[in-house]
Amino acid sequence: LVVATALSAGLVLPRAASPSAGLVRPAHAATHRAAVVAEAAAVVASEVVTPSEFPAGNLRSLAEYDEMYARSVADPSAFWADIADSFHWERRFDEVVDANFDSTKGKVFSSWFSGGTTNLCYNALDRHVAAGKGDQVAFYHESNEEGEELPAWTYAQALAEVQRLANALRGAGVKKGDRVTLFMPMVPQLALAMLACARIGAVHTVVFGGFSAEALASRIEDAASRVVITADGVMRGKKLVGLYEIADKAAGLVRGLEVETQIVLQRLPPDVSGVSLKPGRDVWWGDATAAADPECKVEWVGAEDPLFILYTSGSTGKPKGVLHSTGGYMVYAATTTKYVFDLQPGDVYFCTADCGWITGHSYVTYGPLLNGASQLVFEGVPSYPDAGRLWRMVDKYTIAQLYTAPTAIRALMREGTGPLQGTSRSSLKLLGSVGEPINPEAWRWYYEEVGGSRCPIVDTWWQTETGGVMIVPLPIQGASMKPGCAMRPFFGVQPAVINEQGEEKEGACEGLLAIKAAWPSTIRDVFGDYERYQQTYFPIPGFYLTGEPPRRGGDGCRRDEDGHYWITGRVDDVINVSGHRIGTAEVESAVVLHPNVAEAAVVGYPHPVKGEGIYIYVTLNEGVHESDELRKALVMQCRSEIGAFAAPDVVHWAPSLPKTRSGKIMRRILRKIAASGKEVTADELGDTSTLADPPVVDQLIASHGIWL
Ligand code: ATP
Ligand code: MG
Repeated sequence: LVVATALSAGLVLPRAASPSAGLVRPAHAATHRAAVVAEAAAVVASEVVTPSEFPAGNLRSLAEYDEMYARSVADPSAFWADIADSFHWERRFDEVVDANFDSTKGKVFSSWFSGGTTNLCYNALDRHVAAGKGDQVAFYHESNEEGEELPAWTYAQALAEVQRLANALRGAGVKKGDRVTLFMPMVPQLALAMLACARIGAVHTVVFGGFSAEALASRIEDAASRVVITADGVMRGKKLVGLYEIADKAAGLVRGLEVETQIVLQRLPPDVSGVSLKPGRDVWWGDATAAADPECKVEWVGAEDPLFILYTSGSTGKPKGVLHSTGGYMVYAATTTKYVFDLQPGDVYFCTADCGWITGHSYVTYGPLLNGASQLVFEGVPSYPDAGRLWRMVDKYTIAQLYTAPTAIRALMREGTGPLQGTSRSSLKLLGSVGEPINPEAWRWYYEEVGGSRCPIVDTWWQTETGGVMIVPLPIQGASMKPGCAMRPFFGVQPAVINEQGEEKEGACEGLLAIKAAWPSTIRDVFGDYERYQQTYFPIPGFYLTGEPPRRGGDGCRRDEDGHYWITGRVDDVINVSGHRIGTAEVESAVVLHPNVAEAAVVGYPHPVKGEGIYIYVTLNEGVHESDELRKALVMQCRSEIGAFAAPDVVHWAPSLPKTRSGKIMRRILRKIAASGKEVTADELGDTSTLADPPVVDQLIASHGIWL
């Protein structure tokens, strides 16, 4: 990211070779490296951006952040107890935190607010209604069809619906601790279904509505859910997603248990839906809630009782059933929302994430509602009917905070600034990004074109496992940002940069990102697989690791001279070419600068001389043809933007790239194809259940790269 930042400023800068880099290291590497490091530091220091108009907010100054952060790590119990006391506890907690991150000293665990009993739904809805905020809008609902007006949900209406649905679940035999699988479109009712589960102490497991029947069945099986909440279907752009059909097929595929009840939300007009329910098992949401008692008593649950299971994106391997518990998650999701998005009364907030991902859990359902916010939920896609949809929604609802993913920003950026014209976006106060490192070109576009250089970009680094934002440039009036830098830890978060032996590094350095102490929403378990939990996240005594050791899936990180954190991407996305460590993101950033390139993905492959070679997959813009000239131009571009050592060895024209359904490029599949050419088999590709468009992989295997 450092180099990539320099690129955006029009500077040419090769990346430093890491001291740990092995294999064929040229003799001049050490001197070269020293020069590069000095140059990099100079560039970083000068690349600082301060938004012109951010108002004073929940954090008044950097000094206030420093003071609060210092308190949060010096005395976490006092710090978090103060915050937790602003929530409703039916019984107050006895102890704030107890945790062990060292498996040599016994079981790894993390426990927050033990002895306390509370309820997420009560805190998210009842509390606000009781305080007289029942008429405030909780959700605006924007249809897939622009111009179709759908009713908004006030806090009182949301609470009424949740109580009826919760009673319907109880009627279906759901008890505290039982798992309920939600397979729904991104509509307000999805959040309400999550809250209905929480209200009765059931554990929800949301499966993104884009998954196949097989993927859904394996998650129902893993979580052992006997009750599923789904919908007839939903329109996403011009495409009809037949959720019921998929859920019905999945129910037939589930082994070892039976899906006994399916509650089906009607979202499509009856003539489009064409769904006929299976008698005895299925019931329409509308019928179930109409028949249910309007009042549903809250089930008070222990702070450490489970709240939900959510499967990770599967970017690096088989998805893990991440388990989060109640009290700590509630406090952390709410507190991060308050400070990261600087919520103020009257703001309308918009997060484009689906509740099928952690971002939708923490920053659609729980965080905003716990803060009593009004937000927009959009069931469609940003490109329909055209690439101006998102910006028109910003104006229509006067959105103050927009939170989206680099993949969406890049897709919209490709359409140019035309779609922005005719929209003012003047209500925007802050822009957020999550999911992947945001490349500098996209950062700039988001900052300058979308936000008019007025709004801070909160580039939030976190994971399904962390439950909430961990490292972030918090929005503070007058505070500057470094494009592409995640900047500072959130309160209570103690990041560490470690080497592969697990030794902590000091000062300015680069290595694996780890966390030294428990924070309230630390992952509590991998559902049903404590062994995997301990081995994946706690293989090194004293640290939470961000991915599977030794080099699979964890995040790399650099701490600069100012103590700010740069997420350099996954450590397995670093290519070691003749001793030069090159981040795939940097090469990708260089390749996509070419006007004919739509998207690029870069991986390493075994190279007889260099150790690893650079293999680039390139998707060209519509109407552009592959050619030798273009191939040479891309190689030249990498040489001139980064350095001769970053010149690609193989160019593979790709009609499109394999992505997870959350929009992340699946580099592990690209690595397999690059390493084994045409002979790669389905088995070798590993778990592909989270792939958005499986035929893309066959296309890539059938075509091949051109060695240079
Ligand atoms: P799996 O763990 O199954 O391979 P995944 O890691 O993609 O899937 P998520 O929990 O959805 O599953 O994503 C978290 C990861 O996303 C982080 O570990 C990091 O690699 C990446 N990420 C998220 N936000 C950022 C960010 N702001 N900057 C850089 N990387 C980010
Ligand atoms: Mg992960």
